Formats: sequence, structure tokens, C-alpha cells
Amino acid sequence: MSSPADKETTKPSNFLRQIIEHDLAAGTYAGRRWAGRPGDATVQASGGPDPARIRTRFPPEPNGYLHIGHAKSICINFGLARDYGGVCHMRFDDTNPEKEDTEYVHSILDAVQWLGFGWEAHGTRHLFQASDYFDFMYRAAEYLIEAGHAYVDEQTAEAMRLARGDFGKPGVDSPFRTRTPAENLARFREMRDGQHEDGSMVLRAKIDMASPNINLRDPAIYRIRRATHHNTGDKWCIYPMYTFAHPIEDALEQITHSLCTLEFEDQRPFYDWLLERLSETTTLPDGRVVGGLLQSPPPRQYEFARLNLTYVITSKRKLAQLVYDGKVSGWDDPRMPTIVGLRRRGYTPEAIQLFAERIGVTKSDSWIDYSTLEGCLRETLDVTAPRAMAVLEPVKLVITNWAEVMESSGQAAAGHGAGFLDACSAPVHPHLPELGRRTFTFGKELWIERTDYEEVPPKGYNRLYPGNKVRLKYGHVIECTGAVKDAAGTVTEVHATLVPDTKSGTPGADAIKVKGVITWVGAADALPAEVRLYDRLFTDAQPDAGGKDFIESLNSDSLKVVTAYVEPSLAAAKPDDKFQFERHGYFVADRVDHVAGQKPVFNRVTGLRDSWGK
Ligand code: ATP
Ligand code: MG
Repeated sequence: MSSPADKETTKPSNFLRQIIEHDLAAGTYAGRRWAGRPGDATVQASGGPDPARIRTRFPPEPNGYLHIGHAKSICINFGLARDYGGVCHMRFDDTNPEKEDTEYVHSILDAVQWLGFGWEAHGTRHLFQASDYFDFMYRAAEYLIEAGHAYVDEQTAEAMRLARGDFGKPGVDSPFRTRTPAENLARFREMRDGQHEDGSMVLRAKIDMASPNINLRDPAIYRIRRATHHNTGDKWCIYPMYTFAHPIEDALEQITHSLCTLEFEDQRPFYDWLLERLSETTTLPDGRVVGGLLQSPPPRQYEFARLNLTYVITSKRKLAQLVYDGKVSGWDDPRMPTIVGLRRRGYTPEAIQLFAERIGVTKSDSWIDYSTLEGCLRETLDVTAPRAMAVLEPVKLVITNWAEVMESSGQAAAGHGAGFLDACSAPVHPHLPELGRRTFTFGKELWIERTDYEEVPPKGYNRLYPGNKVRLKYGHVIECTGAVKDAAGTVTEVHATLVPDTKSGTPGADAIKVKGVITWVGAADALPAEVRLYDRLFTDAQPDAGGKDFIESLNSDSLKVVTAYVEPSLAAAKPDDKFQFERHGYFVADRVDHVAGQKPVFNRVTGLRDSWGK
């Protein structure tokens, strides 16, 4: 019997679960109110108790297609919300006006849904965009100025950089740091009203220029940037910095656990500083009490290790370079680690979710072996994928005694044996008899793999060579008699004779023992198909580590296209249908180019076994 404690140790480690379970037990967020939409303290206070026990969010910038690293983040954020009676918000972090595109917005929503997650809960669509909060962010900035926590700095960018100091050297206060709140407010409003040039001044938080954490040395929180924003158009010529915007987005949405990757660890003190300032109240010199803009308790940020996967690049910018330089056919090229690429390659949402769970969530950076991802895929496909036979590198096999054997066994009338087709069948799936059987024919001419014949067999070779017997899977036993070659010495036909009374599934079929079993398709009913044999995109396991130029390790053999012959059951394959081609691995009907029954195109998803180490 396994106790709950045993179960805990076999579960992949996920320290975030402990944090959430602690918060739930302690009731950290139990008193929160939720107005049914993002909003400041007043808005939220008008709502009832939050029906969500926790709130997480997935906040991509809509500046590219999501990749396997994002999939990890999606599975963590949506998965934890699902597991703990919470809600995960889908939020576009679109505060940077220059880089966004609605093409990316659609692809991101698609990817999240395809992975099996959604943002509808309690009758509400939790789909938000950060740019909707610009008004509040502006108000928060004015509050910080009034309360003496922010100032407008007119130093040049270069002077500001020098005054920031570095790891071993404290920063130096800006000459503009001592301006009065009234002066700062006037200046900030001029910035907003377009009275100053781009880059001529910034609003900075006033914290501590000597802080050991450089992120607390008066970070910039608003900048002037004349750019048309895809959502707010030309309404603003000042935009909040990411480090200022993100905590506010979380707080307005009542996020409880804000989960991000480790590179944001140094930002956490500012995250906390800002949200504390915006929740507290301040009594101004004139006696007015201001502030209390955000509800308490504030969200908390927790960092986890980003996913690094061997042989894979997870940077939108670098993936974009592969697309724009034509190194791949597009964002959905089956060799790309984008979600659209993985999907087209034949990956399933189940496999990706299993992968995310298996690698766990930790706080230390590490590299995950690509074979772990493929292993998850094999595991999920093996239990469901229909089987089929396919010959990827075909050479013809001629059964030279076919007519005689068929006629003498009475299966075909004298003189008609050569064209006789013997019906064979095989289970669609060896462990799912309810899926029924697939049928195909055996005849005088068949297709087999070119590598299944050797004139002079290497040691241990059990397949076709003169004098050797093998079983054609689901068919008959044959004995190889030789081969025909062309002038160049290339084998054009392999010849064999059929051993009578050996058909699979008939009494006595196993009387003759053979060591080799090979796959085949019948020349009479096999279908030609384009098969795309994909391999790893990079030859280097860490293509971009340490500033390496990843273009240099592109694998020039990452795609081989062959014309294969596949068994007739595949005529019914629809785009995205996945199969195990016996002996070869898993294949998917290409979702873009495959046309059922007319133009079969299959992608190799992965082989049957792990070949990454080899
Ligand atoms: P990229 O560097 O590829 O542009 P990003 O981090 O800038 O990625 P965002 O759109 O900002 O992309 O990311 C959305 C979320 O996905 C963030 O919370 C981010 O931390 C997370 N994320 C991105 N890459 C990874 C990764 N490799 N592993 C885990 N999470 C990731
Ligand atoms: Mg980013």
C-alpha cells in the first residue's frame, strides 16, 4: 500500500505547490474581493468574495509565436489554477508599443487552447490586455510623484547610466532628485502632453541609489516614446517600463501567485516595493490623505527555472531569425520548437502536458534532454496510434513461384495464379481489438525496404540474402533466391520463392522457424506517399549557449523527403492523424499539405526508440 507520503516523493518536484498549499491553509488570500473584472482597490472592494481560491496568469508579449518554453509556463500557470480551484488569466503584456502584432495575438490564443487550457471561469472571460491599464498606470505614477516616491530625471541616458554605479560601486544621486513633488508633477504632465522629445527625460522611482540591488537604484518607470500602439493608438506618447507595468497588471487582476522565470528574481524587491507604495496611504503636507490605490494583500512573485532543452533554441528573436532567413519553411515548420511547429510535427497536447509535469518545477537552471520530450510523445502515441506498414526506401520483391503455389493450393485457377491477390489482415492496434483490423493484399509483386536485402550478409543479418528464409509480417514465409541489378550494380528487383502453407494465422504456419520478420506492402494496392523524414535542427546540443552563433550548427540533413509506399488503409488518413509505421516510428498526416486519398504527405514524428544519444 502506498501512503500519501510515498505518493508525494514520486511526484515530480514542484515547490510552487507547497507555496500555494501553505497560502491556502493560512488563508493568505481568503479575504480578497473580486468585482468580476480587473480594477483598483475601490472597484474590487465593490465586489463579493473572490470565487477563485488562487489567481495566476500567463502574460506573453504578443511579439512572436510561442515555443516549448512557453508551453512549460502555460502548463504551470493554467495547471496550478486548475488543480487548486483557481483561475488563470490569459493576459497580453502589450505595454511596449513597437513590437506587437495581432497575428501573434491569434496564434498565442490558439496555442493555449490547443494545449488544453481556457480562460473562461465563473461566467467570465479572463482574457486581458495590459494596455487597458494605461490610465491606471498613469494615475499610479502621479500618486508616486505626489507622495515623494518618484521624480522626473532630465539627465542624458549616458549620464544616468554612469551615475547608476555597478556591482561594487554605489550610484550617485541625480541633480534632479531633489525637485519638489509639484515640480515633478508639472514636468510629468508635460511629458504626457507631448511637450518634450523622445528620450529627453524619464520618470524614475525614488528609492536608493546606494542599494546593493541595482534594480532599486531609482529605476525608470515611464519614458517618452512617440509610437502608435495597436490598442491605444496615439493616445499616449509616454509608456510605462515593463518593471513598473507588470506588478500593477498583476495587482489590478487580483493575481495571488505571479510566477515567472529566474531572470526576474532581482526585480522582486522592486515588485514588492511598488505594490506596497500603491496600497498604502500617505498624508500630504496640505493634510490630504491620498493613496490606497490597490487592494491588499498584494500579489507575490515566485521564480522558477526556465526550460532549456538540448538541440533546441527557445528565444522568440532567434526563432524569428530562422524564419526570416529561410532556414526553415515558417513558424510552423515541423522542425521548429514553436507550438505550431510541434503540432505540425505530430506532437499532442497530452505529450506536452506530460512533459511539463515530468520535468517538474525547480529553482535551478538545467538542461533537459530532448529525449525526455520525445519519450513523453512515444508514451502517449503508443497507446492510441493505429499501426500501418510503410516502405520508405522501396525496392521490388518478386515471388517467382507465386502462380504455381496459388494454383497448386487451389486458390487460383490454372493460368490465373500470377495475378491472384491473397487477402491479409492485421490488427489496427495490438492492444485495442475494438479498433478492428486493417486489410491489404499479398501478390506476386511487393515492395520491401532496400536495406532488407544484402547480397553478402553482414554478420548477424537475418533478413533477405540468397538462401535465407524470412517471414513477411502478416503474410507468408519466403526464401530469397537472389536479385536483379542494373548496369550500375544497383539492385532493381529482389527475387524469392514462397514457402507453401506458412501464411500467418493459419494452422501450421509456424512449422518453419525463421529469424527475420520484415515489413512490406503489396505492389497492387500500396499507395505512393510523400514522407518527410525530419531530424534535429541543430547538431550542437546547446546551439546558442555562451553566445555561440546557432546558425553555424544548423543540421544540413534535418529534412529528407522520400517517396514511400504505404498500405491502403492510409487512404483514409486525415490531416493530423497519427500512426505507428511498424518498425519505423510514429508518423502524422501533414496538417498543411496532406490531402486524404489524393496527396498523402506524412511527417516522421519520431522513431520507435531514443536515438538522440547515438
Ligand atoms: P522569448 O525570450 O522567447 O521572447 P519571453 O520570456 O520574452 O521569451 P514572454 O512572451 O515575455 O516571452 O513570455 C511569456 C511567459 O513565458 C513569461 O512568463 C516567461 O517567463 C515564460 N517563458 C518564456 N520562455 C520560457 C522558458 N524557456 N521556460 C519557461 N518559461 C518561459
Ligand atoms: Mg519577453
